[in-house]
Amino acid sequence: MSLMSLTAVELGKKIKAKEVTVAEAAKAALAAVKAKEEKVNGFITVLDEESVMKRAQEVQKQIDDGTLTGPLAGVPVAVKDNICTKDVLTTCASKILYNFKPTYTAEAVVNLEKAGMVVIGKTNMDEFAMGSTTETSAFGETKNPWNPEHVPGGSSGGSCAAVAAEEVPCALGSDTGGSIRQPSSFCGVTGIKPTYGTVSRYGLIAYGSSLDQIGPVAKDVTDCAALLEVIASYDSKDSTSVKREDLNFTEALVDDVKRLKIGIPRDYFGEGLNEEVKEAILGAAKALEAKGAILEEFDLGLVKYAIPAYYVIACAEASSNLARFDGVKYGYRTAEYDGLHNMYKKSRSEGFGSEVKRRIMLGSFVLSSGYYDAYYLKALRVKSLIKKAFDEAFEKYDVILGPAAPTTAPKLGESLSDPISMYLGDIYTISVNLAGLPGISLPCGKDSAGLPIGLQLLGDCFQEKKILRAAYSYEQTRAYEHAPAAWEKAACCGSEKGVEQK
Ligand code: GLN
Repeated sequence: MSLMSLTAVELGKKIKAKEVTVAEAAKAALAAVKAKEEKVNGFITVLDEESVMKRAQEVQKQIDDGTLTGPLAGVPVAVKDNICTKDVLTTCASKILYNFKPTYTAEAVVNLEKAGMVVIGKTNMDEFAMGSTTETSAFGETKNPWNPEHVPGGSSGGSCAAVAAEEVPCALGSDTGGSIRQPSSFCGVTGIKPTYGTVSRYGLIAYGSSLDQIGPVAKDVTDCAALLEVIASYDSKDSTSVKREDLNFTEALVDDVKRLKIGIPRDYFGEGLNEEVKEAILGAAKALEAKGAILEEFDLGLVKYAIPAYYVIACAEASSNLARFDGVKYGYRTAEYDGLHNMYKKSRSEGFGSEVKRRIMLGSFVLSSGYYDAYYLKALRVKSLIKKAFDEAFEKYDVILGPAAPTTAPKLGESLSDPISMYLGDIYTISVNLAGLPGISLPCGKDSAGLPIGLQLLGDCFQEKKILRAAYSYEQTRAYEHAPAAWEKAACCGSEKGVEQK
């Protein structure tokens, strides 16, 4: 059995008990990556063994002398490639950043390092986190470890696939409209999108700044709580960072949902929801009821407006955020050009992929004079109404329960040809970002094709502990299912790595 099939907390315990060294754990991760990457393609960059071993030695020393005492000290971790790591390639899976080595490290990664975790590499994603399948990456698509003919979801598909394939025990993702929860659901792992402001966005390359949050991906709720505890911090470098006194998330890992009020929005179970997904989610609700939770159906409302509002706001913010990639200071610059404006134009035309361009155009359009009020301002109003609808719901319920996604993972290639239907797949995740709420997705079954289904639990702002408790209690009713080893041998799909470089 590989050390990578342990959870992060289990591995941390073994390291603490001196049954495993930090170097052995890191080597096991690198070996797993080496053995599986050709099929999974979950990573864009894997750190070289020498630097990983050097870091492992430093951490080991600090564990031995009692400086590092946390539960995740010595545990390998992967980081999504839109999170800056000093001197280590950070591409956002885009050709435009194919050579970008940041001069600083994101605060969330600084926190990982402070906790003694060992970063192994940077994970694949949809270009600039725009997408739901990890197929828009300029570095080839990631495969779903449960079936390599299917997508892992997105945009944090690399992080979720790397955890499901047991290349690393845990990883960081980012979630702007579901990008941690949806791929967690598709890959049969657990992921949390924290309350907006809980994890510093300093060093997270912005997509939709008012929606983006970094969060943990791991095999179980315990790991996610421990990892969230590590990365959550107040940071004056992020103006939206919130000072919280309640960051001891592992305290919430209690198997008790007696009298916990769980609201089930009828709007999340209507048209478009796959029958097998529906059955699995309602089965999970029943399991919580059997443990003493009180279930009640209700109408959340406004659900159908969430997708248009989200795509207007996210694209508007993206069009502004991505204006900085112009070929001047870093990243891709076109080889031949005629003057400054032509250089900008050609660098951006050649550097960005088509999904990113579509969103920049849409965002620029909704912000342009004459359309600003009709689209952008209206979308902001819808956002406030969605927040209000959740506020009212959370007056009655501790937790809201529903699916993370309307279907299980689609086949590779099925989604890109129809972007609108891909956007519609975000229906259950995006309102959470618009309202700034925390949400978790955890496995709750499989469909008849053997693909995982994810249960989503939502809480009011700053109520991560309630969803952690409910998720932990539910998790006690079923065993973790490891992705089948069969895919490792599948005669399939080693994808072409690397973008054409200048
Ligand atoms: N699928 C959504 C989008 O494409 C969400 C992405 C995300 O959360 N980063 O915008």
